Amino acid sequence: MSWEENVRKVIPYVAGEQPNQPGMIKLNTNECPYPPSPEVKKAILSLEPEKMRLYPDTDAAELTNALAEYYGLKPEQVFVGVGSDDVLAMAFLTFFHSDKPILFPDVTYSFYDVWADLYRIPYHRCALDENWHICPQDYMADNGGVIFPNPNAPTGVEESLETIERIVSANRNVVVIVDEAYVDFGGHSALPLLEKYDNLLIVQTFSKSRAMAGMRIGFALGNEKLIRYLRDVKFSTNSYTMNYASQVIGLEALKDDGYFHTITQKIVDTRERAKVKFRELGFRFPDSKTNFLFVTHKVMPASRLFAALREKNIYVRYWNKPRIDNYLRVTIGTEDEMNRLFAFLEQYLQNRS
Ligand SMILES: *Cc1c(COP(=O)(O)O)cnc(C)c1O
Repeated sequence: MSWEENVRKVIPYVAGEQPNQPGMIKLNTNECPYPPSPEVKKAILSLEPEKMRLYPDTDAAELTNALAEYYGLKPEQVFVGVGSDDVLAMAFLTFFHSDKPILFPDVTYSFYDVWADLYRIPYHRCALDENWHICPQDYMADNGGVIFPNPNAPTGVEESLETIERIVSANRNVVVIVDEAYVDFGGHSALPLLEKYDNLLIVQTFSKSRAMAGMRIGFALGNEKLIRYLRDVKFSTNSYTMNYASQVIGLEALKDDGYFHTITQKIVDTRERAKVKFRELGFRFPDSKTNFLFVTHKVMPASRLFAALREKNIYVRYWNKPRIDNYLRVTIGTEDEMNRLFAFLEQYLQNRS
């Protein structure tokens, strides 16, 4: 008998690498290529060291209230956490407490099975169809809960609000979580369904569209009862999750709605131009409503392209996993970064065809 028999053993999530090479083009973790709002800089300069002596507001009340107002909800319908990973992990622990399997797509955010394993939640992966769409009937099976991103990652594919509603309405006796990490890039939020369905939880983040991955701000929207349950679990784990600085800075970022719309629109425009360019170069991809494209080339294997790009200090994401091992997920960078990517691809593919 060894102490190791009493250890909770898990296979951790593997995040995209965070290289720091001079002149690199980093298109591998769906970060925003633009800095956060200029208001953020002002907010940083206004931080008071005296306040750091004290514990932060456990409710992140100002940020919570501002989010409630922004989304037209009551503050009791908003839960704030340390990035949406924190919110999602808390939601898994709170809402997925059944002996029946939770359901999520076979190709999706690779943290879901990690949390399920960590919390010993049984799960079943439902295969996406050949166009990377969810088959709603798969989610009509008896289950202990449902989670999927919309738009999905790493495919970029968005499901219609009708599809979401079909799934939520067929699962009134479990919680359905829609992970909207990428919804701000032209997608449609399930927000209008909140009024009608008390089993729907929407999770969003400041990491992608609000250019603040480093500040770790995520949040959940749902009915008061769901949020109360989530808070009960949070206050049973760690009351002081979000630090003082993130609360102040997140609030200022949220207030600058004009800047937010400007940068998300810029990324959407660059994405649409990238679609044309990728097609010209012989790539195919499902249509994306996110800040990334999930591309495969008609002849060049993705693994080779991944290695060749890496050699040139261009980082994209590659998974050696079933169904997706001939795809690359390319985050939309600045216009200049994308032009440099395409210049390299053009030359590389030309020399080899
Ligand atoms: C990036 C991402 C998250 C987590 O983002 P945080 O930085 O933790 O807010 C959650 N879900 C999906 C699908 C993501 O791509």
